[in-house]
Amino acid sequence: MTRTSEMGEAAQQGAVTAEREMADKRTLNALLAQMPAVERVIASPEAQPLIAQHGRTQVLAAIRATLDGWRRDAQAGTLATDATDATDATAQTPFAIERAIVDADRALAARAQSRLRAVFNLTGTVLHTNLGRALLPDVAVRAVVQALTQPANLEFDLATGKRGDRDDLIDALICELTGAEAATVVNNNAAAVLLTLSALAARKEVIVSRGELVEIGGAFRIPDIMSRAGARLCEVGTTNRTHLKDYEAAIGARTALLMKVHCSNYAISGFTKSVELDELAPLARKYGLPVAVDLGSGTLADLTQWGLPAEPTVRATVEAGADLVTFSGDKLLGGPQAGLIVGRKELIAKIKKHPLKRALRVGKLTLAALEPVLKLYQAPEFLRERLTTLRLLTRPASEMHEAATRAQPTLQRMIGDGYEVSIEPMFSQIGSGALPVDVLPSSGLVVRHRGKGGSGRALLRLERALRALPRPVIGRIADDALRLDLRCLEHADEAAFVAQFAELRL
Ligand SMILES: *Cc1c(COP(=O)(O)O)cnc(C)c1O
Repeated sequence: MTRTSEMGEAAQQGAVTAEREMADKRTLNALLAQMPAVERVIASPEAQPLIAQHGRTQVLAAIRATLDGWRRDAQAGTLATDATDATDATAQTPFAIERAIVDADRALAARAQSRLRAVFNLTGTVLHTNLGRALLPDVAVRAVVQALTQPANLEFDLATGKRGDRDDLIDALICELTGAEAATVVNNNAAAVLLTLSALAARKEVIVSRGELVEIGGAFRIPDIMSRAGARLCEVGTTNRTHLKDYEAAIGARTALLMKVHCSNYAISGFTKSVELDELAPLARKYGLPVAVDLGSGTLADLTQWGLPAEPTVRATVEAGADLVTFSGDKLLGGPQAGLIVGRKELIAKIKKHPLKRALRVGKLTLAALEPVLKLYQAPEFLRERLTTLRLLTRPASEMHEAATRAQPTLQRMIGDGYEVSIEPMFSQIGSGALPVDVLPSSGLVVRHRGKGGSGRALLRLERALRALPRPVIGRIADDALRLDLRCLEHADEAAFVAQFAELRL
């Protein structure tokens, strides 16, 4: 073949391609010409209910996005035609107004849905940090609604008509419940620790046992908080053993504080020794130094009276000689997110004067929720029934077993033969760093994949389908089964929980 004929062939082929491209372009243009204008879609009767619900601005944007999508699909040759119903007049064109409306409706509904959604916490962890920790009792909810919708004396002294201090609303109550001299409240316990260290130990040293240099989930680490607060950490002892003489040897001219941190989420066992507060406090007093205790969960009531594991109470910690105690509002206390600081009057006064206090202070919603929760502790006889967290923690396994018995048949029917749903005993956890062991006997639904192999993927698919329900169901996969602990499914929610199985799409 000669060189010229080769070129001729290429040119010929090029002309054919160009011709085809022209034809394609004509077809595409003809297709695009059928597309309705945005104005026609938004003026259609079908668009009017959407406009009434979402407003014209959003509907217009949604229709535009739909039409833009169609145009892109047409250009890419991937336009879906509605072939499901050939007799339908709208099926003759891929650009029916009705279809644009359906599309826009779906997009607007997704956009309107809140990103923060109610879920079913069936993880078995009652105080689940990722699922919002403590649930508030109704008295607290009502107080929050009132604070949201009506002016309140947040920083206004009703007796004198002068400016007040927001801490005055609850500090007496906190002192009554803890035996402390004074109290203040900030955004969370991490803030409470940061503020305490900033106010009392900046440019000075804080002595902490190496066995207590904890990391709580979400990057709260005692050494980091310490340096953020401008305090120098003085580690004493070893990971497993710290003695009183270790603390004493470290005390010097720059020492501001001795600190103890509750080992919330781990336990050191075996050849161990730690210095208890009642030993440490006299040493601190001998040198004129304060002792601060970060209790973490810090409960206000002795949990053993309800058969729960022992956790140090704030009162016992104060009585054992702590000059300051910090703890969370939304862990075992069962209230809103908050950090409580209690202790000696002059130390609390110093903390309240620190500029960070203003930055870390709580809002009125927190105070509104916290006060009625604290008041529940004034009548301990009713606490178990009225404090949601305690009620959940103390539910007998038989209740969860009965709920599982009621829910099992429906779940088995809706989930199909590919899975087997059984009712089994299990253990719940308190969560949020309160004793990381299985101590609460419970019961729930256990789902296993029936077929041979692929069980892992099948369980993940099921887990995803449960999360896609209108009120997502959050369980946990362990030992080749999906486990739904029913401890946190209270009776009032049971019907809604079972009813939505009908929408399970596997
Ligand atoms: C949970 C915890 C914190 C952090 O409390 P938040 O209220 O989550 O900020 C700090 N210290 C200890 C020991 C904890 O257990």
